[in-house]
Amino acid sequence: MLNPIRDPRPEQIPGRVNEFLQALPGPSAIYLTGEDTSRTRVLVTLSHGNEPSGLEAVHHWLQDGRKPTVNVVIILGAVEAALAEPLFFHRQLPGCRDLNRCFNPPYKDRQGQLAQSMLRTIRELEPEAVVDLHNTSGSSDAFSISIGDCPDRRALAARWVDRLIITDLRLGSLMEQDLGCPVITVEAGGSLDEAADVVAHEGIARFFLEDELLRPPEKLTLLRHPLRLELAAHSRIDYADRPLHDRDIVVRHDIERFNFAPVDHGDMLGWLDSQGLEHLQIGSDYQPHDVDEFFRVEQGQLYPRQHMRLFMATTRPDIAASDCLFYFVCDEGSEEVAGA
Ligand SMILES: [Zn+2]
Repeated sequence: MLNPIRDPRPEQIPGRVNEFLQALPGPSAIYLTGEDTSRTRVLVTLSHGNEPSGLEAVHHWLQDGRKPTVNVVIILGAVEAALAEPLFFHRQLPGCRDLNRCFNPPYKDRQGQLAQSMLRTIRELEPEAVVDLHNTSGSSDAFSISIGDCPDRRALAARWVDRLIITDLRLGSLMEQDLGCPVITVEAGGSLDEAADVVAHEGIARFFLEDELLRPPEKLTLLRHPLRLELAAHSRIDYADRPLHDRDIVVRHDIERFNFAPVDHGDMLGWLDSQGLEHLQIGSDYQPHDVDEFFRVEQGQLYPRQHMRLFMATTRPDIAASDCLFYFVCDEGSEEVAGA
C-alpha cells in the first residue's frame, strides 16, 4: 500500500509543496541513502491530512538534495486526505477512520491496512529511531509525546523540542507500537503557526544529519500523565464568545491561547446547558476519573477546579467531537526538568 520512491533528485521535485503533494503516487515511503548505510532512521509525517508542516520541511529537504548522515525513510500516510478539497483541511478522509488511531489490529478497513503496511515497512527497516511528526489542531507551542519514559526517548525528544509529555494513553497510535527502537510523536505547533514550520525544518535537519542522535539532553521539561477532556456521545459542541441556544456546550473561541499557559480556577473555559458536566467525560491512561474532579460549573459557565496546563486545545468542533476538546495536566508534581 505504500508506494516506494527511491533517492529522488532535486530536479524531480516540483517547486511548490501543493504540486509535490499532487505528484505523489498515493501513500508513500521515500528512501534516502545516507553516508552510513548501516543505519536507518524513519520519519513519519502527514498521518493527518490537515498537518502540512512536516511535508513542507520534507519538500525543502528533497529540493536541497542533501545527503543524510544515515539512511532515512520518510513515510507519508494520509496523502489522500491532504489532497481532498480544500487541500490540507481534512484530518482524515470524510467517512474514514483517523489513520493514527488504526495501528492496533484488526486491520480490516483501508486505513487499518495502510497502518499495517506502515508498521511492516518500519519493522523490516530495523531503524535506530522513529519520529512521527504532526501539527496540533490549534495554535500551540511545540512539544513531544512518548509512551512511557526512558533515556533514549528523552534524548530523541530533545533533538526536536524542549518539552516531553509522558503518557500511557492507548488510542491505537503509531508511537504505542513496539518498533524495536525509541519512537516519539512530535507536535510542531499549529499548521498556521510559522514557528511550527521552523520546528519541523530544524528538527528534520538534526534528525537526518546528527551522527550521535541519542546523547542525553541538556534540558527537557517533562509532563506526566495527561488526561483528555472529551465530549460525551451525542452532545453538540461549538466555539463562540457567548452561549448558543442550539449547542450543549460552547467553548470560548480563544481557547487556544491557553495552550501550555497556566490556567486556574478563575479562568472561564466555556458555557454548558442545564445538563452541565454530563456533556463531558475524562479520558485517562491510568485510572477512571469523573469530570467534576477537575472541572466545575458556576452559573452555566465551565471552570477548572485547580491549577492545570492545557494542550492540544482546538477550535475545530469536528476535531473536538471526534478526538477531544483538549488534554490537560494538573500541575502539582507533574512538571520536572531533566538533564543538566
Ligand atoms: Zn496529527
